[in-house]
Amino acid sequence: MWTRRQVLAQIGLAAAAVHTLDPHELCCVMPADAQTAGKDLFELKKVGDGVYAAIAAPRYKVNCNAAVIMTNDGVVVVDSHSKPSAARALYNEIQSMTKQPIRKIINTHFHWDHWQGNEVYANANPGVEVVASERTKENLTRPDAGVGGVPYIEKQLAAVPGEIAKLKADIQKETDPAKKANLESNLQQAEEFQKELQNMKPALPTRTVATTTTLREGGREIQLHVLGRAHTNGDLFIFLPKEKIVATGDALIDWMPFMADGYPAEWPETLTTLDKLGFEHIIPGHGEVRPKTHLAFFRGYFVDLIAAVQKASAEGATLDEMKTKVGDQLAAKYESGFSKYPLGRYRDRVGTNVEAVYLKVVKKA
Ligand SMILES: [Zn+2]
Ligand SMILES: [Zn+2]
Repeated sequence: MWTRRQVLAQIGLAAAAVHTLDPHELCCVMPADAQTAGKDLFELKKVGDGVYAAIAAPRYKVNCNAAVIMTNDGVVVVDSHSKPSAARALYNEIQSMTKQPIRKIINTHFHWDHWQGNEVYANANPGVEVVASERTKENLTRPDAGVGGVPYIEKQLAAVPGEIAKLKADIQKETDPAKKANLESNLQQAEEFQKELQNMKPALPTRTVATTTTLREGGREIQLHVLGRAHTNGDLFIFLPKEKIVATGDALIDWMPFMADGYPAEWPETLTTLDKLGFEHIIPGHGEVRPKTHLAFFRGYFVDLIAAVQKASAEGATLDEMKTKVGDQLAAKYESGFSKYPLGRYRDRVGTNVEAVYLKVVKKA
């Protein structure tokens, strides 16, 4: 296995060539107040026979959900969280349920919070295959792919000392004991995250899929679908036809969508294609397991947002005016449904979503 620096050297990226991040690029920093243990990281929920969703708990550094698919001769895991310690906690939980090896890790896309734990499964299971779309494999080593991949580890490393310094300063200033304790927990998590980043040995895809591929895995049919661009240019959907379950990564989540590396103009169409698969349950990249009806709600947000930004722009509104106006306009329909968790809430993201749609859809037209 390569070290992080060997991978960087191999792809010709100088570690020095990193830049300071825009704070919202770190899409999911939030306060959390508990010590790290399995329960603090995720909750395992049964979705179908032998199929589980590991629903991530809020942490200072966000983790994605994972899907755990048991088969007759091994386990398939979809996505691996933002750090090895989180993947290890889930791996231990899986090991308490079965002694079968992990056969495959499937990464839905290249974002940091979905693949940085891959190495745990690869180290413990020498035969493991890491599966992703062709575009995701490219993105994982491309210097400017966005908020994920091997080069992004360097960007996180460059950003963490500033975060730590700010947390320390905030702790000094804080007088409320509960808030202070929360900041101290965040500081500890930030310092642990920094160590994990420094020691990361990326386990990259060993197998790619270009289009629909069917795996017959220990008696279970697992379909992998590349359906078009949405959250990234390489989103992979994992569909279990018998169990009627789909794992969607961040192309369909129970938070507000994150569009920085996304394709809002094409996203609704990709979801329409997804809608044709015969599933009943969605294991989203973030938030709780949802029924299929959630797809229409999530897709509707894109359609309404694009129409509202187009209209406001045609009427001559400035970007700042659009953010407020469109945010207020769509609130009745979307605010409560998109504000169920401490993260990814409607008001946190509607402004950046308006901006993304303005830049990527309206201005481009
Ligand atoms: Zn994510
Ligand atoms: Zn993502």
